[in-house]
Amino acid sequence: MYSIWEQRSFLARPDLAVVGAGLVGLFAALHAKRLHPGWKVVVLERGPHPSGASVRNAGFACFGSPSELLADIAAEGEAAALHRVEERWKGLLELRADMGDAAIGFEPSGGHEIYGVDDPLYNRVAEGFDRLNGLLAEITGPKTFRWLPDGPARFGLARTAHMVRTDLEGPVDTGRMMRSLLAKVSEAGVEVHFGQDLQRLENAAEGVDLVLGGGHTLRARQVLVATNGYVRQLLPDLDVEPARGQVLLTEPVSGLKLKGTFHAQEGYFYFRDFDGRVLLGGGRHLDKAGERTWEDGTTPRIMEALEDLLRTTILPNQNVAIAHRWSGVMGFRAQGKEPLVARIAPSVVVAAGLSGMGVAIGVRVARRAVGLVLRL
Ligand SMILES: Cc1cc2nc3c(=O)[nH]c(=O)nc-3n(C[C@H](O)[C@H](O)[C@H](O)COP(=O)(O)OP(=O)(O)OC[C@H]3O[C@@H](n4cnc5c(N)ncnc54)[C@H](O)[C@@H]3O)c2cc1C
Repeated sequence: MYSIWEQRSFLARPDLAVVGAGLVGLFAALHAKRLHPGWKVVVLERGPHPSGASVRNAGFACFGSPSELLADIAAEGEAAALHRVEERWKGLLELRADMGDAAIGFEPSGGHEIYGVDDPLYNRVAEGFDRLNGLLAEITGPKTFRWLPDGPARFGLARTAHMVRTDLEGPVDTGRMMRSLLAKVSEAGVEVHFGQDLQRLENAAEGVDLVLGGGHTLRARQVLVATNGYVRQLLPDLDVEPARGQVLLTEPVSGLKLKGTFHAQEGYFYFRDFDGRVLLGGGRHLDKAGERTWEDGTTPRIMEALEDLLRTTILPNQNVAIAHRWSGVMGFRAQGKEPLVARIAPSVVVAAGLSGMGVAIGVRVARRAVGLVLRL
């Protein structure tokens, strides 16, 4: 018994329904609407607001620390590893150019990697340092990384024997970035609907039916599933596994010296300053099986490791309380770090498995996914 007004406006079949209002889903909707202003583009998000990794991360605009990049080169070869650095670097430039630094809260305060006393990673990085800078020269420019001998003292770090810095990275304000993106997407004419939990997809004549929680069904001409770490809840055959990341935030620290973003141990630990506090996360490598979960929450094992790093290295001899803890679910491929961007049914494209790099590559993954949508 819908009126003609409802049928022609609210119920009109979308040309594109995007599932998931994270960085990828929102940027994909934005790209599609820019390319086809006449299209009806909707985003369906099950949370009351964007509720995935895009609002749970640590807010690092980074393209990889030296130990991470050297490990990637060793594992995958130069061509594949450097291609991903290029995607990350170009993605960050596009994110900043499209949104503006103020809207994403980007601070050009630099990215760093630290090495402890007798840290075997230091020897590996020292050995590969010049070669890595040489390889990066064509992507990020000459001398991307440099040693910062006074770094540990400058930033008040203990147990840190060596530090590398790049001026090209820095933190973003994740919450501000996502609010700005949401506003931009709405301004462009995309409809974003929250509280819409997609249960399953069914092939339909000239499109696909999206069966939503509560029994409501929406037919769309095309669907883009951008649910990243959650994608197997919907499409269990895809090789994207959930990978939880845990984070903590301290109370304000008086006289905090820390400034910028910091990595340790091939990027498995990361910390930064935020609002005069320390924000610290990672440690997933300590319990990869346990962190292969969609559950929100923190565990004593990983929280203890994070607090140990905090108390011994980042804020030595300071008894600062933890104000807040949270977790977020990333998506990792079973093999390698390349995201999955593919058409999996005549009217269904998937973009998922951003391997903990979505702040950097999300814009470009979204663009690739829209490219597939357009090639129907
Ligand atoms: C702790 C942590 C640290 C990180 N650090 C970095 C970093 O330093 N640098 C970096 O580049 N990246 C980092 N990332 C990764 C980055 O945040 C992600 O790669 C990126 O946000 C993924 O974006 P997305 O849009 O693909 O997925 P998400 O942001 O996860 O969005 C998916 C959305 O889909 C929704 N959804 C799921 N299932 C359904 C359904 N059935 N129906 C409707 N909606 C659904 C979810 O609620 C969610 O909002 C980190 C992530 C975490 C958790």
